[in-house]
Order: sequence, then C-alpha cells, then structure tokens
Amino acid sequence: MGIGIDLGGTAIKGGIVSDDGKIIQTLEYATIPESGYENILLTISRMINELRERSESVSEVGIGIPGVIDAHSQMILSCPNLGWKNKNFKSDLENKLSVKVNLINDATAAAMGEYAYGSGLGASSMIMLTLGTGIGGGIILNDQIISGTHGVASEIGHMIVGENFYDCACGKNGCLETFSSVTALKKYIDLQLQNGIPSNLAQYDMINGAIIFDEARNNDQLALEALDRMCRYLGLAISNLNDILDPDIFVIGGGLSAAGEFLLNKLIGSLQRFLTYKDLAQPQLVLASLGNDAGLIGAACLKNYH
Ligand SMILES: [Zn+2]
Repeated sequence: MGIGIDLGGTAIKGGIVSDDGKIIQTLEYATIPESGYENILLTISRMINELRERSESVSEVGIGIPGVIDAHSQMILSCPNLGWKNKNFKSDLENKLSVKVNLINDATAAAMGEYAYGSGLGASSMIMLTLGTGIGGGIILNDQIISGTHGVASEIGHMIVGENFYDCACGKNGCLETFSSVTALKKYIDLQLQNGIPSNLAQYDMINGAIIFDEARNNDQLALEALDRMCRYLGLAISNLNDILDPDIFVIGGGLSAAGEFLLNKLIGSLQRFLTYKDLAQPQLVLASLGNDAGLIGAACLKNYH
C-alpha cells in the first residue's frame, strides 16, 4: 500500500495505491498557482493526512512534480507552471507530517508507473515518451530511475532532431517536441493551411489530436502528411535513444497515444528506417496502458525504488 500525489498545473490528484498497482481511493483538489507556495503546501499536507486516515501504516509518500528536482538534495530547482524556484518542498512538507516524502519529476513518475504495473511490466530497461502538449520522458535502466546529476536527464522532448520553422519554448530550435507533440502538429497544420494546402482540417475552428487522427483515417492528405512528419522525427529520436541506451522496450503515452494502433504502426515503420542494427535484436514499441493514472501510481511505488 502506498500514497501517490500528482501535482499538476490545474489539479492536485492523490490516491492510495495497492501493492499490485491498483488505485483504491482518490482525492482531487484544484491547484491555484496564484495562492502561493505555502497554500499549495498546506493543501497537499491536508490531502496526505486525509489519505493516511483511510490507509493502514503508510510511512512514505511519493509526489510527482512538474519540474526539475535535484537528485541528491531533492530540492525543487525549477517548477515553471507554479512559478517555484529552489524550494525545499520535501523538508517543508515533512515538517508538517510524520511521513517520509519522496519527490520525482512527473514524466518520470508516469514512466515508473508503466514500468512497475503497466506496459513495461517484466522489462528491466524502459524508456517512455509522453506525447501531449509537449513531450515528456522517463528512463529506467536496470531497475534504476535515471534523473542525472543535475536532475535534468530524460528531457527527451528537448532533444534536437532537426531544424524547424519555429523555436521551442525552451529557446532552442529543433527540439523533438516542436515536431512531434500536439502543439507541433497544430502549428504545422496551421502553417500549411495558411500556405493554401487544401484539407478538411480547414473547416474546424480549433483542431486537436483526435480530429487530426480522424481526418487522417479519412485519408485527408494534409492530416496524413502531418502525422508522417511527426512520426518521422519521433522514429529518429527513438533510434537515437536506442543507439545510446538499448532498452528492452519503448512505451508511448500521453494524449496522442489514444490514436492507438494507427499511431503505433506509423511509428514502427519510421523506427525501422532509422534503426542502426536492423538485423539484430530490436526494441519493442508499445502503447502505454495506465492512461492518466500512470503518474499517481508511479509516485506511490517510488518507495520501492530508492
Ligand atoms: Zn526545447
């Protein structure tokens, strides 16, 4: 039994998770970034106390944080969504509670959940890519979470894979998330529509991942081309990761993974093009299976991995 918390930009989700990775109870409060650090700290400590009243003998709590955590001191070095820098969140929270608090980057928490109880079950090395508004990543090698010396490892979304027509929010040009996230798809399609490329996508006031995949299934050429471009760069990034780390399995999660086999088949095709040792053992490429719960489950099982 463990308690996991997923601190997001709009909601704080907490849950009691059984030893076999099932969420038994959940709580959810709104995140109000303007309310300030102390108030969010209080909300989370109240949530943990409520969850502890409902669970037996939980002595550690794992929290997924949307930011950079120093691997050694566990200081939150940067958390842009909440406007936090250099916060000693772990000890500030432990001072309010009688439990040990473990922090983890939220994308890594999701990878941890998939590794321990989802699509990565049985693997010893796994890399997860979360395709949403941006691209998050999590790397687990030989049962160990890879956070890096400065807590900035696994930033797969900011791996440079080419030159692009717009810059990434991080300030660089050519980051994977400017080619293969939902935002990237939308920007590319907008550009092509402005260039006068005919497409059914022009009829929508606002497009999202589901609409793009639907139109691609209906054979809309622009939707298909945008997805091919997205998968080309994603395949390139995965082959780079495979050349360096050679994991058992790559897990694809996030909102775009809802496109299922349609996305997976395109991606497998793209990866085949870029793999170095095509005739030797190849990595498995699978879809994530825990959905939005992966981060909470991963945070709760963090106690087993340190
Ligand atoms: Zn970037």
